[in-house]
Amino acid sequence: MNEQSLDKKKKTVTKKRAVITMIVGLIIGLALITAGIIRTNAIERNAAADKPVLAAELAALADQEFDLEKQQRDSFLENGFSDEYYEIARQLEQIGEEIRDVKSQLRNTENLTFEKSKSIPFFVFGGFIIFLTILGSLSAFAAAKVRSAMPDPLETMKQARADAPKVARTCPKCGATTLPDANGRCEYCGGAIQ
Ligand SMILES: [Zn+2]
Repeated sequence: MNEQSLDKKKKTVTKKRAVITMIVGLIIGLALITAGIIRTNAIERNAAADKPVLAAELAALADQEFDLEKQQRDSFLENGFSDEYYEIARQLEQIGEEIRDVKSQLRNTENLTFEKSKSIPFFVFGGFIIFLTILGSLSAFAAAKVRSAMPDPLETMKQARADAPKVARTCPKCGATTLPDANGRCEYCGGAIQ
C-alpha cells in the first residue's frame, strides 16, 4: 500500500467517525427533546383527565355540606346545642377541609406552568447537544477539506525540482559537462554542483 492510498484510507476513517459522531449526537439530542415533548403532553393529558373527576368530587362535597348544614339547623331548632349538633359540626369541619383540598388540586390542573417548566432542561440539553454535534461535525469537515486542499510540501518540492529546466553545467569535481540530476549532482561522478 503506498503513501497516498494510506492517506486516503485515513481520511475516510476520519470522515466515517465524524458522521457516526454526528448521527449519535443527533439521536441523543432528538431523544431528549422528544422526551421533553412526551412529558409535557402527559402533564396536559393527565390534567385534562383529572379536571372533570375533581370537579365532580367538589360538587358532591358541596352537596354533602349543604345537606349537613340543613341537618345542623334543624337539630339546633329542635334540641339546641346538643351532642348531635356538635357531631354535625365536626363532620362539617371535615368536609370543609376536603373541599379546600380538592379545590387546590383543581387549581393545579388549571395552572400547569410550573409542572411544565420541569421539561425545560430536556429541551435545553437536547438543543445544546444538537448544536455541539453540528458545530463539531462542521468543523471536522471543514478541517478535512482544508487538509485535502493544502498541497503536500514534500510533493511540491519534488515537483518543483522535476519542473526545473535542465541546464548543462560544468562539474567542478570531474570537469565534465553534465545535466545535474534531481538532487543537483553530477551524472558522471556524483559530485555536488553548486
Ligand atoms: Zn563530475
